[in-house]
Amino acid sequence: SPYQADEHRYQSLAYRRCGHSGLRLPALSLGLWHNFGADADLHACRQMLCRAFDLGITHFDLANNYGPPPGSAESTLGILLRRDLAAYRDELILSSKAGYIMWPGPYGDGGSSKYLFASLHQSLKRMQVDYLDIFYHHRPDPNTPLEETMAALALMVKQGKALYVGLSNYPAELARRASALLADLGVRCLINQVRYSLLDRHIEPETLPACDALGMGCIAFSPLAGGLLSDKYLAGIPADSRAASASPFLRESDITPARRELLLRLNALAAEGGRSLSDLALQWVLRTPTLTSALMGASRVSQIEAAVSALQQPPLSPDELAAIEALLSQ
Ligand code: NDP
Repeated sequence: SPYQADEHRYQSLAYRRCGHSGLRLPALSLGLWHNFGADADLHACRQMLCRAFDLGITHFDLANNYGPPPGSAESTLGILLRRDLAAYRDELILSSKAGYIMWPGPYGDGGSSKYLFASLHQSLKRMQVDYLDIFYHHRPDPNTPLEETMAALALMVKQGKALYVGLSNYPAELARRASALLADLGVRCLINQVRYSLLDRHIEPETLPACDALGMGCIAFSPLAGGLLSDKYLAGIPADSRAASASPFLRESDITPARRELLLRLNALAAEGGRSLSDLALQWVLRTPTLTSALMGASRVSQIEAAVSALQQPPLSPDELAAIEALLSQ
């Protein structure tokens, strides 16, 4: 039967202003990096996207290379968008990116105008849309002048192929220069997409304050550290988990005894406040308003539901925040 969105879908989540822009993003966004490729069960993908949207998750994040194979996550989104979500296109923020290797030869990787435009056109086809809401340069490219990359992004906005543009994995100084170049071209740099979680705080000293100062939003990818920041690895490695899968991005060897010890302590701390570890992890990244959205991944509907209900709990108290700080600095 055709999908009909829940009429109460805007009552579940908060929407946060993205930097100084006019765009508000849901506090929780869903990324299609894992579990939406060609091997994924289309029905399961449909369930996750529709449930997410029913819970107010208006933002789905993609990249040219998500799959496997590369491109297939965008194709999955395209099929489901056309089949179920087409009527809701104006309620969705769809993003994609280019910056990692996508096809052979000198024009399938990096930050050249040639690569970014070719990739954007491919993404639009696979996703079956005529514009993206956000297009990102996926990572800095030291071999392309930043002027060229930013001119390409600005032109995408002027051509209406992307409503907004953003950076991903750009450190503070480069984000500052990129933002200034875009501003000179009359285009706002909307957002920086960076890794951020209880287990990776590298953006705190410089990148996050720079985003704040520049009026740029910030979206945290892997807020659950790929699932480490949940209760699933506390006692072992479940067979249906990312660490047990072929994904090179989370391996059994990443779950060292010292790391498990830290996770157990964080879990105990979370339990004292009546929360699960993943609840704590999501609330924690969102504790500062500079952080616009937590960008999670999911392999099943229940994980999306759990994350939304985590954000319906009260924010972490000063005592909880201090206890977390003490634990992390041990
Ligand atoms: P997370 O840290 O949120 O990890 C998601 C994984 O955690 C899920 O796939 C699931 O894994 C597990 N999980 C989620 N909820 C629960 C729960 N309640 N209990 C137990 N396990 C849970 O994010 P990702 O690493 O998936 O990244 C999210 C998104 O960020 C990507 O889809 C992508 O859009 C973006 N990203 C961007 C990058 C960039 O360079 N710009 C790089 C990486 C990601 P399992 O399969 O084990 O169930």
